[in-house]
Amino acid sequence: MRLSASPLSVALLCAALAAPVGAQSPSPAAPAAPSAAAPAAPSPYATTKVTDNVYVFRAGGHQAMFIVTPEGVIATDPIAFINPQASTAYLQEIRKITPAPIKYVVYSHHHYDHIAGGKPFKEAGATFISHKSAHKRLAALQNPNIVLPDMIVEDGGSTIQLGGVRLDLLWVGNNHSDNSLVMLLPREKILFAVDWIPVGAVLFRDMADGYVPEWFAGLDRVLAMDWDRMIPGHPGPGGRLGTKDDVRALKEYMTDVSSAARQLAAEGKCLNDDAMGAVRLPKYEGWGGYNLYLRGNVARFCAYWARGI
Ligand SMILES: [Zn+2]
Repeated sequence: MRLSASPLSVALLCAALAAPVGAQSPSPAAPAAPSAAAPAAPSPYATTKVTDNVYVFRAGGHQAMFIVTPEGVIATDPIAFINPQASTAYLQEIRKITPAPIKYVVYSHHHYDHIAGGKPFKEAGATFISHKSAHKRLAALQNPNIVLPDMIVEDGGSTIQLGGVRLDLLWVGNNHSDNSLVMLLPREKILFAVDWIPVGAVLFRDMADGYVPEWFAGLDRVLAMDWDRMIPGHPGPGGRLGTKDDVRALKEYMTDVSSAARQLAAEGKCLNDDAMGAVRLPKYEGWGGYNLYLRGNVARFCAYWARGI
């Protein structure tokens, strides 16, 4: 099955299928016993309301967006990175908010750390959607923990319309993977982008599965879209959401890394780990991952400028 390029209208499922809210009664709390034990560790899970119908589920350092409508829920990225129960917790968080059916799960891209927890959502009846190249890669990998997408999005993108909400699924070229979908809520002016537009952070390690220079073109396409707030796949500083200024700052950072790597390539130093590790860009030293990953980011651009990769 394929999502057409035209809006996909989804009929309301029989409301009788949905469990009544009263069925979600919490289990009775046990009385607190006095104890000298250390306080329990804070939960790695949290759900934050962004606007009326849009939420962020966080599991450790990973995040997914979900949208609640009267006709059902559109979820994204069933995270199971910190433990296999993360996506069950995700589903439970949704169930605290609505008994409506889980209609869709959309993969931001095919990397396992964001999508390996799909089974509870599949059992709940969701239809899984990804970019066509994500489906192709996942079908070849045959990881038993990964739910294969039921529907694919072509390069031209697609739209889900459900319960009065419109969600555009947009492929803006190769960047961090060849199958990253950005998800735009035009009415809410909210964008969900995973891994390839970090907020206040450098890029991860040596940008594995990263495509240079197409990445820059994707940033320009995102900047041309009409949105105000961006939900990143990993929390920004203090958990804040992103803005277009963050996208512009990332583009500037990548441009600076690229220039430094191009210089190293011209000097024949792109196979010299010490030379790549000596690059400093003090303007960005307050960004997350700067000390850990700047070297890897430089190495990725070195591969581009010195070897055309
Ligand atoms: Zn990724």
